[in-house]
Amino acid sequence: MYVFTELSTVPATPAEGLPIVRVALDMPLESLFDFRVPEGLDPAPGSLVVVPFGRTRKVGVAIERAAGSEIAEGRLKAIESVVPDVPRLGQPDLDLFDFCARYYHRALGEVAGAALPARLRQVSRRALKAPGQPPHPPHPAHPAHPPHPRHPRHPREDGDPAKAHAQPGPVPASAEMSHELTQAQQAAVRTCLEGFDRFHPVLLRGVTGSGKTEVYLRLIAEAMERGRQALLLVPEIGLTPQLEAQIRERFGEENLAAAHSHLNEGERARSWLAAQSGEARIVLGTRLAVLMPFRDLGLIVVDEEQDLSYKQQEGLRYSARDVAVLRAQRLGIPIVMGSATPSLESFQHALDAHYAVAILGERAVSGAVLPDVKTVDTRADRPQEGLTFALKQAIGRRLAAKEQSLVFVNRRGYAPVLFCRACTWHSTCSRCTANLVLHREARELRCHHCGHRERVPVACPNCGAADLAPVGHGTQRVEQALREAFPEARIERVDRDSTSRRGALAGVLGKVREGEVDILIGTQMLAKGHDYPKLTLVGALDCDSALFSADFRAAERLFAQLVQVAGRAGRGARRGEVLLQTDFPGHPLYAAVALQDYERFARAALDERRMAGFPPFSYLALLRAESKKSGEAMAFVKDAARTARRAAAREKLAVEVFDAVAPTLERKAGFERAQLLLRSASRATLQSFLNGWKASLDASQERRVRWSLDVDPQEV
Ligand code: ADP
Ligand code: ZN
Ligand code: ZN
Repeated sequence: MYVFTELSTVPATPAEGLPIVRVALDMPLESLFDFRVPEGLDPAPGSLVVVPFGRTRKVGVAIERAAGSEIAEGRLKAIESVVPDVPRLGQPDLDLFDFCARYYHRALGEVAGAALPARLRQVSRRALKAPGQPPHPPHPAHPAHPPHPRHPRHPREDGDPAKAHAQPGPVPASAEMSHELTQAQQAAVRTCLEGFDRFHPVLLRGVTGSGKTEVYLRLIAEAMERGRQALLLVPEIGLTPQLEAQIRERFGEENLAAAHSHLNEGERARSWLAAQSGEARIVLGTRLAVLMPFRDLGLIVVDEEQDLSYKQQEGLRYSARDVAVLRAQRLGIPIVMGSATPSLESFQHALDAHYAVAILGERAVSGAVLPDVKTVDTRADRPQEGLTFALKQAIGRRLAAKEQSLVFVNRRGYAPVLFCRACTWHSTCSRCTANLVLHREARELRCHHCGHRERVPVACPNCGAADLAPVGHGTQRVEQALREAFPEARIERVDRDSTSRRGALAGVLGKVREGEVDILIGTQMLAKGHDYPKLTLVGALDCDSALFSADFRAAERLFAQLVQVAGRAGRGARRGEVLLQTDFPGHPLYAAVALQDYERFARAALDERRMAGFPPFSYLALLRAESKKSGEAMAFVKDAARTARRAAAREKLAVEVFDAVAPTLERKAGFERAQLLLRSASRATLQSFLNGWKASLDASQERRVRWSLDVDPQEV
């Protein structure tokens, strides 16, 4: 396929029956580790094995058998055991790990380590079975079926994988619970079904509220009817509790496994095993779920495919969306990517006819129309405490009509900075190139980058004047202003501070749904997925900063975010209103948001990308480096840039090496940072370049600089 064609190869068939096994261990090293296979053990590829490592032991994944080792026979250690209660990974799963390792230039063991739940990687742990259950014979063809936390497993006569398919169970897509599809939804379902038995990527472009979820659920039901499993990826699970409830209700609790960071380790391990055994027919998860093993995956759905949270930003910096496409391609199954505002990469694939397209142009609920989006010129209508007169008036009207308002502020805390009017001192983090944010409730200044906290000073630490003023607005300050302006209103705030307690977010969202909240204030956490029929007004504050960001994707993200947040308004019978407060009401981006015209925005943005030679018209890799010692990271990156230029010239590879630069956040948590961007018109060229260059960086023996490669970086 066009997306990843140029680089996939499968590891050589392992030589069977030889006394050496190569094991992937979660270490930041390139190579696999060789171990002897003692008599009586059969660590077939994909088995989890316990091996001695230094003075400890580790659990790794057996990757292949080998004829010999470079390590002298006497020094070769033997594997201790094969983990009995975890069925071995299948070859397609191992191939997926292998691809990720090579494409993202990480060790295979790191990929496996990221993919395996921590509980399964523990050397000594209690067996995974529920107490009182007979032990399951450890045999690869008879995978252990762990109990679902709430649903003890039904005894199965037969461990035969084929039999598992023969028990599809009820597929209760009952008519009461599902909507009768609109014509557009029917057409979308048809488009997806056209290639249900092969690799068939579909971009489902649907305006907010157009009923994409219903399309996903129909397709999932279809996959289940065919006896296959479905994977539904969502950006963040806590934000869409309704979706999880809907799936449980419709398909039955026992058929669903959830996979996200809100689970504890035991739950994660059980979900993983349930997906692997086929017991879970549907996996609903966040990005990590894309690396889960499946017995027979038949469909992948990626909701909000443009969402930044699909990109892991540390360690194995993979894109779950891209890995999902690759996985679908390898398995020869359909993949549906849904969004109101697809990434420009996916949109371009659709334009190039690499992806089929289905469009839902209207809201699904009859009578519901897209909201009326307007800008409020903040140069004329000067905001007080962040709020313009026009917005306050509009909120007042909603209160009178007993409707709900959402005020979107993309900064948590009270004020982004504390400022001394006497000497211009302002609160900065000593460890980061960033301001300390005033959190008034906690009486603290906090760094949102490194977590540093300190008491709010009473007087200026620099000149002693007692003239400190908060500057700018965070969610807390806007909340306070709204409480003062509308003392009678029921107001709730949603941001990471207010929802750190488990269940807190669901609690507030439940109240909103029940109509117990008049005004909701929040960060982009609120932009996604919720459906509140009585919410008819959205106000967005301080949108402008992204217009002038150094990151070439900032405008794309702002557009997507505003369309999403605007999409919260008017999902019921009443038309919604959206007010965007801006100093630049004439900016084309706002005009496109106002028209809710994704295509117009996307085509213009693509023209710019084409001219500038940025993705999707080129491929990028970013070298990031950081060091505690001043200047070292930059020196390392500059050196890497020289090496890169020489290598590109020597190997005649068309890879462009940018200049080493300091990122906007130049210092973070006491580390000084530097980075280097590489670009090529060809993914394959970039990849083959990175192979050699990474090896030379690995060999550089630089110990004080921490560095990593980010392939297809999302934030530059
Ligand atoms: P999207 O994910 O595209 O933003 P949703 O899937 O949240 O949209 O659907 C928006 C609303 O439309 C939901 O309340 C959903 O129940 C409703 N809906 C979906 N499909 C239909 C349909 N065919 N008929 C009536 N209502 C529908
Ligand atoms: Zn001062
Ligand atoms: Zn800091």
